[in-house]
Amino acid sequence: MSAGACAGPRVPPLVQVAVPAPVRSAFDYLAPGDVPVRGARVRVPFGRGTRVGVCLGGVEATGVAPERLRPVGEVLDVEPLLPAGLLELLEWTASYYHHPVGEVVAAALPALLRRGRAAVAGGEPRWALTPEGRSAPAGALVRAPRQAAVLEMLRAAPRGLSGAELAARAGNAWQSALRALRARGWVGPEAVRRSWPEPEPAEPGPPLNTSQAAAVAEVVAAAGGFGAYLLEGVTGSGKTEVYLHLIEDAVRRGRQALVLVPEIGLTPQTVARFRRRLGGGVGVLHSALGEQERVAVWLAARAGELAVLVGTRSAVFVPLARPGVVIVDEEHDPSYKQQEGLRYSARDLAIVRARREGVPVLLGSATPSLESLQNAEAGRYRRLVLPERAGGAADPRLVLVDLRRRPLRHGLSEPLLEALAACLARGDQALLFLNRRGYAPVLICHACGWAATCQRCDAHVTWHRRAARLRCHHCGDERPAPSACPACGQAELRPVGAGTERLEEALADAFPGARVARLDRDSTRRRGALEAVLARVGTGEADVLIGTQMVAKGHHFPRVTLVGIVDADGGLFSADFRATEHLAQRILQVAGRAGRGERPGEVLVQTHHPEHPLLQALVVSGYAGFAAGALAERREAGLPPFAHAALMRAESRTPAGALAFLERAVALASSGLPEDLQMLGPVPAPMERRAGRYRAQLLLLAAGRPRLHAFLEDWLPRVEGLGPAGGVRWSLDVDPMEMG
Ligand code: ADP
Ligand code: ZN
Ligand code: ZN
Repeated sequence: MSAGACAGPRVPPLVQVAVPAPVRSAFDYLAPGDVPVRGARVRVPFGRGTRVGVCLGGVEATGVAPERLRPVGEVLDVEPLLPAGLLELLEWTASYYHHPVGEVVAAALPALLRRGRAAVAGGEPRWALTPEGRSAPAGALVRAPRQAAVLEMLRAAPRGLSGAELAARAGNAWQSALRALRARGWVGPEAVRRSWPEPEPAEPGPPLNTSQAAAVAEVVAAAGGFGAYLLEGVTGSGKTEVYLHLIEDAVRRGRQALVLVPEIGLTPQTVARFRRRLGGGVGVLHSALGEQERVAVWLAARAGELAVLVGTRSAVFVPLARPGVVIVDEEHDPSYKQQEGLRYSARDLAIVRARREGVPVLLGSATPSLESLQNAEAGRYRRLVLPERAGGAADPRLVLVDLRRRPLRHGLSEPLLEALAACLARGDQALLFLNRRGYAPVLICHACGWAATCQRCDAHVTWHRRAARLRCHHCGDERPAPSACPACGQAELRPVGAGTERLEEALADAFPGARVARLDRDSTRRRGALEAVLARVGTGEADVLIGTQMVAKGHHFPRVTLVGIVDADGGLFSADFRATEHLAQRILQVAGRAGRGERPGEVLVQTHHPEHPLLQALVVSGYAGFAAGALAERREAGLPPFAHAALMRAESRTPAGALAFLERAVALASSGLPEDLQMLGPVPAPMERRAGRYRAQLLLLAAGRPRLHAFLEDWLPRVEGLGPAGGVRWSLDVDPMEMG
């Protein structure tokens, strides 16, 4: 069996099936007597087993030799499980990201449906007569004896019949008969279990201020068709209120809203706010959902039973019966980009989807990505601005704390400790942000200089003091922390640098009376722990909250008036050209937690580089000033958004394997490299060895997107032709977010 359909002998009838397999095109099969519809799942023989794929439609001819064509095994859906519009989006996604269409389609399905489970919440669908079916005139089906037979069977089964029961009674023809009866409106699925709360009366929100009202009016006025909008407003400026109004408008028009939120943004607070304001009909998709619940929400969205679907990245692939508006909250958030397998950007696909569905799409952020700012600049997005905080709270003030030659106590400087003391004396709350969990990122021997490193990565391991473990944050490897130096036997091992666990200790030291809460992946592993920490802060049971990026988004802590950014230096000198952008966004996101109540907030940023232009721009002219400078730099350097990028990554078990592979890939291209396309590399990845594999990368930059894709279209099959060279694994990342 080979892939694809090209000119060849006619072998009727054939179907193309998107089968999850690492081959980029679809596969041809002999259609069963009952030709499956496009978008329906089918079980097909594949290799020595079977797989569940999705039918892409009939084809006239195939390149597969007749004796090698195999028949579709079983048709799993009577109706398309993936509606036409969504299936087209998935095909577009496969071609844009140069990824196997079968894997793209599979990625769009909840796991249970991917495995072939019946497309109904809670198990097998049961088919029953509709009121019209019950009153169908006798003799109406004299010329369709199979339909008449199925109609009679269902008349005799008031609780409906499952597919298996119908097959047992009516044989193989039940599916086509059932389809015909459904087309007449005489048969339908039995009501399915709902897993979301029943509608409650919605709570009204505050009246919109002028800029909010203008933003809503502009999008609503254009709601009949596609339009892309960038809603810029600092944290607390009332963006979520704008979303809620746009959603209400869509729902009033009988349409559904799709709301994408970043992973860390989908907090219980956010969900509760949406449910409170919109009443029932809000479905939520997130990674912690059970498989059954996921299917139920997915099917309800597809059936149009949900008014609003709120979800993280993968929700962009959920079918909607009547889409009305698409909203992407915190559009700059890196979690919209999937970093493995199908490396898609849900933010970018939201735009593509909205255009295909002919609905408006709104991207919201306090710190828009440089891509989106440039799109607005170029007139592709309409820019909507909320200039001030909605509740009348003042913007927090940013202050740089110069760490040079200052003593630090477990990572905290004197000015920050003083500000903390003042904050606690006022009875306010403080927030300390440090994007590093554990006690210390490095453990060294004071006698001989030995440092604890990971055996599988080019990295230090983090000391988790309470657990007495050394953990690698890159590969997950861990081992007990030694009590003496493994190299020289001396017992004086010292932590270098600070993580959140160490800050906790520093605060207990400096402020014995303060109640400290910590929010990071370690402190929230247990179910319910996250909610417990948030509740302690919310009710004022904690005075100081220490946290990683988990604190950055979605929480309202009105009594926080001091924010400390403990380490701003990490992102300043990175090999990744996006690092400064992400640092600026993160500083402002965290800063946005301060002073959301009546009192203004103060933000202290600790750095060894107070003169750095990025930090200066942020302090002096805020995000807009930073972004203008950063965009000018990108333009100068010919980097995205002024160029289009793709990153090829390779990894191997041997030190030179990945680099050698990429060199061969480059050689395949050198003859046909268009002038305006650059290949930079290959070079070793910033962390060359990770989880025992050696990694290298090759960056492609092109001025024009079509040029880049035309080149990839031609080049990738040749790279595939290199075969599994010495166990090298490689992947392509279109529009990469991380260089490494
Ligand atoms: P954002 O999403 O930009 O962070 P929110 O929509 O969450 O902002 O609004 C921040 C706070 O201000 C919320 O408590 C919200 O209820 C309140 N708020 C928003 N808009 C208004 C308004 N027009 N009048 C009064 N309060 C408002
Ligand atoms: Zn030692
Ligand atoms: Zn490791």
